[in-house]
Amino acid sequence: MSEDLDWQDYAIETQAIRVGHKRTPEDEHSIPIFATSSYVFESAEQASLRFTGKQPGNIYSRFTNPTVSAFQDRLALMEQGERCLAFASGMAAIMAVGMALLKSGDHVVCSRSVFGNTLLTFQTYFGKFGVTTDFVKLTDLAAWEAAIKPNTRFLFLETPSNPLIEIGDIAAIAEIAHRHGCLLVVDNVFCTPVLQKPLTLGADLVVHSTTKYIDGQGRCVGGAVVGSEAIIEKDLYPYLRTGGATMSPFNAWVFLAGLETLALRMKAHCDNAFELAKWLEQQPNVEKVHYPGLASHAQHELAKRQQSHFGGVVSFELRGGKEQAWKLIDSTKMLSITANLGDVKTTITHPATTTHGRLTPELRAEAGIKDSLVRISVGLENIEDIKNDLLNGL
Ligand SMILES: *Cc1c(COP(=O)(O)O)cnc(C)c1O
Repeated sequence: MSEDLDWQDYAIETQAIRVGHKRTPEDEHSIPIFATSSYVFESAEQASLRFTGKQPGNIYSRFTNPTVSAFQDRLALMEQGERCLAFASGMAAIMAVGMALLKSGDHVVCSRSVFGNTLLTFQTYFGKFGVTTDFVKLTDLAAWEAAIKPNTRFLFLETPSNPLIEIGDIAAIAEIAHRHGCLLVVDNVFCTPVLQKPLTLGADLVVHSTTKYIDGQGRCVGGAVVGSEAIIEKDLYPYLRTGGATMSPFNAWVFLAGLETLALRMKAHCDNAFELAKWLEQQPNVEKVHYPGLASHAQHELAKRQQSHFGGVVSFELRGGKEQAWKLIDSTKMLSITANLGDVKTTITHPATTTHGRLTPELRAEAGIKDSLVRISVGLENIEDIKNDLLNGL
C-alpha cells in the first residue's frame, strides 16, 4: 500500500498530493475530518501509558488529531524538515517559537521588515517578560552580525519582505547565526516550500501562516512550524500541548486540499505577477516597480539563486503621493481592496496607511515605504483583466 513509500524520493507536487493520509478500515480515498475532541483507551493501563508518553497514540485533540497530523506530515516533507506542528494561526506559530525557545534575559535579532504583528510580538509581548529584540535591515549582513549579543537566542527573518519585496540571504544569515551559537527562524509565507526551502539553506525553523498561499482561497486561518525532530519534540510540542493554540481538524482538511494544488497555483501566481511587473514598468505614471524577477531589482541574482520563481506579490511607486495612490486603488472595479495576500483573487493595498500606518512617518521613511507605494498580491484571474482594471486609474 502506498502509505509506506519512501516519500523523500518523490517530487514536491507528488508529496503534496500523496503524503499524510493513513487510510482507515473504511477504505476512503479522501482524507476524512476527524471531528473528535478525545480518544478512548482499551484499558486503564493503556490510558496511563499514553498519558506518560510511554506508548504513542492519540489522547486529546489539543495534542494530536489524525487530520491535523496528516497536514503536519505532508508540510514537513514538502519543507524537507523532520517534523511539523500545526497551530491555530500564523501568529500562534510565531508566538509558540518564542514561548518555547526564549526565557527572560534572552535577546532576539529580527529583520525590521517583518509582518506587523510579528514585530509587536517580540517588542511588546516578549519585551514585557524581559526579552529584548533588536531590529535590523534585512539585506545588511554586517548589521545582522553586529546586532548579535552573548545572550542572543535566535535570528528571525521573512524573505521576500513585505511590502518592498527585498530578498534576505538565508544561507549567509544562517552561517552568521550558527557561528555565534544562535538559531535562524525563517517566515516562509511569501514563497511557500514550492519556491524556497529555508531548511535546506541552513535555517533551523520555518514558520508559516497557512492562511495565505497554502489555503490559497481565503477561507481559513492557520499556521505551522517546521524543523528538526529534536527542537520540535523537546521545545515546541510540550508548549503546544500546554499553550493550546491548536489547529482545528476542519481547517487542517482545507489546508491539506490547499497543498494539493499549491505547486500549480504558485506557478500561475508567479507567471501573472512577473507579467504584471514588466507591464507596470512600462506605464508612464509608475515611477518604480519592486519585483525580484526584474533586472532592476537590487537582489535579482540572489532571488534567482535562492528561489525557484519570483513570487506573487508586486509593489510599485506611482508618480505623486498618497492622493495618486488612493485614487488608483479607488478606481479599480474588480481588484479587492484588502491587505490580505496569497488568494486566487487579486488584492490591492496602500501600505503607508494600512499595514504600516501605525509607524511614525520617520520610521516609515527609514523603512523605504513611501506614500506613493501600492502593493498588489497578484491572483489567478486572467492577466489582461487585471491590467485593464489597473488601467482605469493609471
Ligand atoms: C499573515 C502573515 C502572518 C500571520 O499569520 P496569521 O495566519 O494571520 O496569524 C505572519 N507572517 C506573514 C509573512 C504573514 O503574511
